[in-house]
Amino acid sequence: MLPRVINSDLINDLARRLGTSDLLNWIETRTAELARLGWKRPGFVDLGPRLLAEVGVAGCIADMKIADLATIRPQETQSYVIHHHYFRTRPYGSVEDHRFWVAHELSHTFWFSAVPGGLPLSSHQKAIGSDPTIEWLCNRAAAALLVPRGLLEALLREEGYNLRDDPPPLHLIPNFARKLRVAPRLLARRWFHDILSSPRNVLCIEPTPRSHEKDHNTTRFRILWEAIFSGSTKLPRKLQGRVVRFKYQHNDDLVRTIRHSLDGRWLELIAQAHTPSQKAIPFSQLPSRPPIAAELARVGKSVILSFSWETSPSS
Ligand SMILES: [Zn+2]
Repeated sequence: MLPRVINSDLINDLARRLGTSDLLNWIETRTAELARLGWKRPGFVDLGPRLLAEVGVAGCIADMKIADLATIRPQETQSYVIHHHYFRTRPYGSVEDHRFWVAHELSHTFWFSAVPGGLPLSSHQKAIGSDPTIEWLCNRAAAALLVPRGLLEALLREEGYNLRDDPPPLHLIPNFARKLRVAPRLLARRWFHDILSSPRNVLCIEPTPRSHEKDHNTTRFRILWEAIFSGSTKLPRKLQGRVVRFKYQHNDDLVRTIRHSLDGRWLELIAQAHTPSQKAIPFSQLPSRPPIAAELARVGKSVILSFSWETSPSS
């Protein structure tokens, strides 16, 4: 499923030049081949020299002078070098984010012509770093490289699940993300948005320090990370850090994912994320809506929620 805001002339031209009728499928196949070169037991894709050499990248250099987080540059020797920032403090520059930047940059080589120098493969491409379709494709390819479909399926099988399970085993997201050395939000996006083409929103929340209120069931939570379904190349407004209200039974002891009836204001929150021009309204002041059908898993102190963008009121 391609997002609405995308240059279809460019997609079609790239597909033609790469000899495929389905560019997304081509990305899946190409990144799965590459991932095998970087496969490290017990289970993550290492963006090491062997994998990089396969796409003509001679190495990665930490470079604090570059304007972006990372960039790929041609060298005189017909190869490329990835320059990247290096932040030592979280949440910027975690190992997981760093791996994503490198995977994104190396994916740019897919859309370079065979002529050395980083020339675009298609005449429909804008300059490197400024074409939203190319950036979207690189993000898609980077996620596919770090979370190959086959690897996700194998991890699910090991736990007794499969991709089509309903409700999906949300409780496995943190553990799988750790194993694959990716951010949980990236894993959630890849799993639900890219592989399943599902308009599902996945959010992880944790209690704020002052979470207990008079009503024992209603507590204040903070959004730790989110994977909001977009359907466009434009990214939704970040919700990370927002305080939300969430009804929660403290004595629940979940080790699996269950169905849950969720406050309908969560849909309003998602709608807000899609209208970044408007001022953010606190969760408690959002207009009320009927409860919605959702899935819930508790992992330690945090709670992972998922609900469809096209959700209907729960009964
Ligand atoms: Zn890029």
